[in-house]
Amino acid sequence: MIQEQRLKDLLLELVQIDSLSLREGKIARRLKQEMESLGGLARIDDAGERVGGDTGNLIVHFPGNVPRTLPILLSAHMDTVKPGEGVVPVLDGNVLRSDGRTVLGGDDKSGVAIICEVLRVLKENQVPHSDIDVVFTICEEVGLLGAKCLDVSKLKARFGLVLDSDSVGFLFTKAPAANHVEFEIQGLEAHAGVCPERGVSAIQVAAAGIANMKLGRVDDDTTANLGFIEGGTAINVIPNSVSLRGEARSHSEEKLEQQIQDMTRCLEEAASSYALKIDGNVFLPKIEAKVERQYDRMDLSNESPIVKLVHSAGQKLGMQVETLATGGGCDANVFNKKGVEVANLSTGMRDIHTVKEWLDLNDLYTSARIVFEIVRLNAVADLATSLKG
Ligand SMILES: [Zn+2]
Repeated sequence: MIQEQRLKDLLLELVQIDSLSLREGKIARRLKQEMESLGGLARIDDAGERVGGDTGNLIVHFPGNVPRTLPILLSAHMDTVKPGEGVVPVLDGNVLRSDGRTVLGGDDKSGVAIICEVLRVLKENQVPHSDIDVVFTICEEVGLLGAKCLDVSKLKARFGLVLDSDSVGFLFTKAPAANHVEFEIQGLEAHAGVCPERGVSAIQVAAAGIANMKLGRVDDDTTANLGFIEGGTAINVIPNSVSLRGEARSHSEEKLEQQIQDMTRCLEEAASSYALKIDGNVFLPKIEAKVERQYDRMDLSNESPIVKLVHSAGQKLGMQVETLATGGGCDANVFNKKGVEVANLSTGMRDIHTVKEWLDLNDLYTSARIVFEIVRLNAVADLATSLKG
């Protein structure tokens, strides 16, 4: 029932609407009109005002027509990463790319387009369905800000899908928690040529500390990275400050906590080894760590209603949908934290966040069929009852 040509045309249209994070207004207006034409009750929330963007999240409710079924959530994000303005889609057989100057924006317009196509099919074929909540979020790419601002108490659905991952046939049910971390390292300034013995280089302290850190893939659950290093004022001044910015992620809260402590300890040990006796006092370089939770982990069991529903839909279509853990975070982490049990279903987007981003349209169509089947099955009474039980 999925109309491939129509889905392709919509994706082509959407990727050509600029929608960098904080500037999703134009695509939100386009989608609001689409949702209303399909009979949805659409509104924009106040997330835009709260984060300084030009629109909030687009929230749409489609009343169901089958009693005693569970409302389901379908969600995707409207924003794209840079370089993402003036996308020129290029179709090579069934593979869609950009012209190489920008990302394609299939992340996450493939998810948006699939949701629209599924709703179109439901309406034109009068397919029985439960209540459906649709949420098109803003600012996913800059810290899941739209989802964080979302008031889920206004949604009916307590389970559902986020469509925001790559290879088709996979359902992401586990994702790590992530912390941002910033370190300030304070050394002692001195003239590098005249009196270097009166200085402590913050750059050297940082270097010694970083050299001892475990970064990259720390263990099966945990990753860590320092992404920025800044410091120094002139080549003839022993630098008195360096700042480091990075992150750590883990599927285990304890390991995440441990990793941040280890990174801090490496810098503190480096600081002690650079202690300097000066004018009868001991100068000890200072380390300040600032840690901020970026998002919480997601960990759905294979017995959770949404996972069972996706597996049933896959079986109906004769395909195996595999559950997986990802190392990335997305709106699904936030929904789960807020008590809406969602898994992240793939849409076919590939090599995302690069100008080489591409998408095989056949994957897009397959994903749309899976989502349609999920929504259709969710309204089949006996299954709905077993999910509730
Ligand atoms: Zn995405």
